[in-house]
Amino acid sequence: MRWPAREFRRGRVAAGAGVRNAGGMAEPELVDVVVVGLGVGGEEVAGRLAEAGLTVVGIERDLVGGECPYWGCIPSKMMIRAGNALAEAHRVNELAGSAQVRPDWAPVAKRIREEATDTWDDRLAVDRFTGKGGRFVRGSGRLDGPGRVRVGEQVFQARYGIVLGTGTRPSIPPIDGLAGTPYWTNRRAIEVEELPESLLVLGGGAIGLELAQVFARFGVRVTVIEAADRVLAIEEPEASELAATALRADGVRIETGVRAGRVSHDGTTFTVHADGTGFTGEKLLVVTGRRAHLEELGLDTVDVDASQRYLPVDGRMHVTEGIWAVGDLAGEGAFTHIAMYQAAIVVADVLDHMRRSKGGPDASGTASVVGGAAGVVSAVGGAMSAGGSTAAPGSVPYADYRALPRVTFTDPEVGAVGLTEQQARERGVNVQIGYADLTSSARGWIHKAGNAGFIKLVADADQGVLIGATSAGPAGGEVLSGLVVAVHAAVPISQLRHMIYAYPTFHRAIEDALRNLR
Ligand SMILES: Cc1cc2nc3c(=O)[nH]c(=O)nc-3n(C[C@H](O)[C@H](O)[C@H](O)COP(=O)(O)OP(=O)(O)OC[C@H]3O[C@@H](n4cnc5c(N)ncnc54)[C@H](O)[C@@H]3O)c2cc1C
Repeated sequence: MRWPAREFRRGRVAAGAGVRNAGGMAEPELVDVVVVGLGVGGEEVAGRLAEAGLTVVGIERDLVGGECPYWGCIPSKMMIRAGNALAEAHRVNELAGSAQVRPDWAPVAKRIREEATDTWDDRLAVDRFTGKGGRFVRGSGRLDGPGRVRVGEQVFQARYGIVLGTGTRPSIPPIDGLAGTPYWTNRRAIEVEELPESLLVLGGGAIGLELAQVFARFGVRVTVIEAADRVLAIEEPEASELAATALRADGVRIETGVRAGRVSHDGTTFTVHADGTGFTGEKLLVVTGRRAHLEELGLDTVDVDASQRYLPVDGRMHVTEGIWAVGDLAGEGAFTHIAMYQAAIVVADVLDHMRRSKGGPDASGTASVVGGAAGVVSAVGGAMSAGGSTAAPGSVPYADYRALPRVTFTDPEVGAVGLTEQQARERGVNVQIGYADLTSSARGWIHKAGNAGFIKLVADADQGVLIGATSAGPAGGEVLSGLVVAVHAAVPISQLRHMIYAYPTFHRAIEDALRNLR
């Protein structure tokens, strides 16, 4: 992650600087841990292990910090913040007089360039890592047999472990004609300085909808093309409906159930041909998912199957002997908060592994799982705390994704945790649903313009607990936090009903939804 950096400058090396043997081959250099890919997850693991005193080599081929600070979460949320400011200004007309708004992309692009990304320069992030004692190597890392990583001509032998945090890249569908065109991915959309007049967005998932709404609010004529029969298809149908309605109100054309058959570009205009129709736009943004590129990692040299979509891991992010994975490439969800959560587990487990290889006590198997919720606990003599839990020291946490929160930062925001109604029913749960419309809550009524939203609860009636929830509305992502606690800690519904919800907050609608559970 990219926070204000301190001015540390030591330990930087370039790929190819290794020691050579008589045959001209690079001699492996012995270090404690090698981290390949310093995105959100890798940077966190590498930095914390270096702070713990291990000799850590961190290898990054692009920018330290990864997708989130340069082309993902942070700049996209800056764009959304700007788009929301415009939308709020329009709401003045309904609530507080009149406001005239003239959107201008220039301050948004400037903010992304200067405040978020330093014009896509990671010097401060590199210094942040080396300032913790880590050693930085710029280049592409690849496994080179058990315990070894090659980067350029340099080879490192890891004493205690290798951590792979190489993330994902956009998955481009094999649509006839697409490959030869100058389509955008998220990177170009984030870097754009001058907005096009019109934009086709291929993919109606979270990233597609967030960017579509922003660009529409800045005057771009946007069409979203989605193959599934609804946008945000992995979330509750009510969330899809809400998001589609909101985007349409912003002028976005939404086409669902449309499978793109061919793409053409005549030098100025894209056409997406689908089902006998053609959709045209000056630019085409492809956001149809992301893919880990396992084939690049040399997994065959350690007998791990590289033909899978993601790298399978166990509950402690362990891939195989001496190798861990962290973040998007593990396929448990493509979120920064997952990468950070997993990083804490990896750090604890690597340190535990190191202690055991030095003949210390075995902390494996002592992970605490309390009330169905994973204990995320501190590691190695209290030197470092994984996830901030206060559970007993010395044990190593298992990953637990039951209460995985996710937020689509459209306006209204769609926050969700745990299972959807359909997922719960497919698992044979005795489901109860509770629903409350935000517009008829006290706060929603007060809020008026821009108040659309709802709370939907998914309960396991036999266990008497919530197993999923959606919180959509002006502060849907924030309201979600109480629901995450409820799912994570398996708080009995009887207790959730018997607590006090501040008046008049958006989260008070949770109480209404609990009352409606049936
Ligand atoms: C537009 C957009 C918006 C997003 N918004 C949000 C959001 O609001 N909230 C949220 O939680 N998540 C969001 N995400 C997802 C988030 O960015 C990712 O989940 C997160 O970046 C994953 O971190 P990671 O460490 O797994 O991988 P990455 O951040 O992708 O980092 C992997 C790093 O590994 C490097 N690498 C790859 N292969 C090699 C190699 N062989 N050798 C050396 N280096 C290598 C790459 O260059 C990269 O820097 C968003 C993503 C996008 C695209």
